[in-house]
Parts: sequence; structure tokens; C-alpha cells
Amino acid sequence: MTNCSPLIQVITREQAERLLYPPETGLFLVRESTNYPGDYTLCVSCDGKVEHYRIIYHNGKLTIDEEEYFENLMQLVEHYTKDADGLCTRLIKPKLMEGTVAAQDEFSRSGWALNRKELKLIQAIGKGEFGDVMVGDYRGTKVAVKCIKNDATAQAFIAEASVMTQLRHNNLVQLLGVIVEERGSLYIVTEYMAKGSLVDYLRSRGRTVLGGDCLLKFSLDVCEAMEYLEANNFVHRDLAARNVLVSDDNIAKVSDFGLTKEASSIQDTAKLPVKWTSPEALREKRFSTKSDVWSYGILLWEIYSFGRVPYPRIPLKEVVPRVEKGYKMDAPDGCPPVVYDLMKQCWTLDPVVRPSFRMLREKLQHIRAKELYL
Ligand code: AMP
Repeated sequence: MTNCSPLIQVITREQAERLLYPPETGLFLVRESTNYPGDYTLCVSCDGKVEHYRIIYHNGKLTIDEEEYFENLMQLVEHYTKDADGLCTRLIKPKLMEGTVAAQDEFSRSGWALNRKELKLIQAIGKGEFGDVMVGDYRGTKVAVKCIKNDATAQAFIAEASVMTQLRHNNLVQLLGVIVEERGSLYIVTEYMAKGSLVDYLRSRGRTVLGGDCLLKFSLDVCEAMEYLEANNFVHRDLAARNVLVSDDNIAKVSDFGLTKEASSIQDTAKLPVKWTSPEALREKRFSTKSDVWSYGILLWEIYSFGRVPYPRIPLKEVVPRVEKGYKMDAPDGCPPVVYDLMKQCWTLDPVVRPSFRMLREKLQHIRAKELYL
């Protein structure tokens, strides 16, 4: 289901400095820049002070000094681990990469560690890119379990699972807990979403079953989750109908946040879901709440077309050049003009001009209250 759904927390300079306390020369972390959303900052502790280096994205490569260029964040970190090469010190110890034991302790302390003995795995319900998804039973409650085997991926997931512990909203698939096994396997336990992914739900029911009120309700559900992420400075980066799940009582909830292949690293552009990703995110990897807004516009189009694949009849390689010239998809058949108008606003080329999720939610509520969708 997921391609790559990194959730990056934008932490401030001050928060990074607190995380790097007590001082230890060479202790470092990478955060997303608050001043330049989508860009990264390398924060390094050195002689009792924290230095912040902006990582510049230039012609598809990363650099700090505009002399050495790297393909990705891992290569950059690796280079400065070997040699300070102009930084205040070489990088010695990453702050975020915690070992399994430390992670287990932390989850236990924060109350998120579940007891493996009380979890019954019943059957596989899906195959994710990172491991199987199973339906299970935890103390009598039906749950979904992502099982990640012992490898570097599990380590990346541990960091992201701890991000998920901070999020709670009725329209986000709720994390129930985490099991970190001694051997390093990781189980992420979430609420069970009986009706599966929104895209399959829309396709299988179609317009004969799902009325305008229902489509608008799904749109609002997702928008409310995104407004919550927006208010808390989280960027989803892979918002699409395939990453929204539907509960037994028909509530749409955003999922696959926090599941990332390389925690807090920049993605390979080739793997991005091109049709859902905003032009500036594709071009310069400038991911922000506003790039999520672009994806939300595509998701609205998916909802109102009952799960069609966006940009029908346009070959994939022509999508980006056409979109960059201002091409926008037509309204799906039967889509209320007020909703289509919101989609077009989400697809404004300049991210600054795009509406916020808060504005979108207010407009959708207005449409619902005045029954403008009928
Ligand atoms: P993913 O690993 O997120 O790509 O999910 C793979 C499959 O598992 C998808 O087809 C989903 O429908 C299913 N799935 C994932 N999470 C849940 C959940 N919380 N409840 C029910 N099904 C899920």
C-alpha cells in the first residue's frame, strides 16, 4: 500500500539544542529546518555549544559547504563521520538512532510497550513493503499488527513509532502500542480498520451506493486529521486514498504516517508517488504542509471519482511537465462545483498561495451545513 510515507517532525533550533544536552562533542541530529521547510539542518554538539549547519539542496544533491555534494543524507552523514572537513567536529554519535534495548526501555517508560504474550496473531491481511500486516487479538480487542523483521528497517521504524506516540486524533489510525523483541523484531499495533483502504472502498461501492453526503464526510474526516498534523508541525508526505483506511463505522482515518524507510532522510525522487506529489516537492524535495495540501487536492479528486487513478489517459512521464505548465485535472463527473473549486485551490503552483487545512476544513463544513453538495 505505501510507497514511502515519511513523517518528518519540524523541531526548532531550541528543541534540537535541548535534545543534544548534556553536551558531548560529536553528538548530532538532523532536523527539518523551520525557516526553510523541506530543507534539513545538521545540529552538532561541540565543546559545550551546538552548531547548526544548513543542508542545501542543489541540483538534486545535498551539500553543506557547496564543495562536497552527496546523493542522500546517509552519505552526507557518513562523510562527516569520517572527517570533520570544515565542521566544528566530526560526527561521532547520532542522537536519534537508539538501540533496541534503549527503545524498549523508552516505550516501557512511556507506557507504549505491549506484552508479546498477550498478542495473538490471527491471519495475514496484507503485505506491506516492510513486512506483513496481520489481524490480531490483544486482550480481546481486534487489532492490526505490522510485523517488521530484525534489520535496519526496524531501527528506522522504532524512531518513527516514537513519533506516532505523540499523535492522537479520531481521524488518524491510532497506534495502540509497540513490541520490540530481544532479537530486534518490531510489532506496531494499531486499531483495526475493518473496511480496508479508502481507495478500494470507493471502487467497490461506487456511485450507486455512496451518496454526496458520504463523499463529503470522508473529505472532512481526512481534512480534520490533516488540520491536526498541520497544527502540530507534522508533514505526512504520502497522503493518498490508498493510505486512508475506513473503520467499521465508516470513519476515514489517515494511516501510514510515521512509517519510513530511512527515518528522517530525504527520499529518492524516483520512488515518489508522482501523481500525488506537489511540483516543488518533486523538483526540490520541498515537503511541507503545503505539499500535503496539494496531495489532499488529488485525494479529493480520487474521492469524487470513486477511486479512479489520477490524470487518466495522460502518460506518467507527461504528467509533471503538464502540471508545471499549469494543467489541472477536470472535475470528476457529478462533482459539486464548490468541491472542484477547492481541488483547484489545492493545486495552486505557488505553495504559499494554497489554502491551509484549517481553511479547507472550514469551507467543507460550510458546504455541508448549507448542503451545497447536493
Ligand atoms: P501497508 O503496510 O500499510 O501498505 O498495508 C498493507 C495492507 O494491510 C493494506 O491492504 C491495508 O488494507 C491493510 N492494513 C494496514 N493497516 C491496517 C489496519 N490498521 N486495519 C486493517 N487493515 C490494515
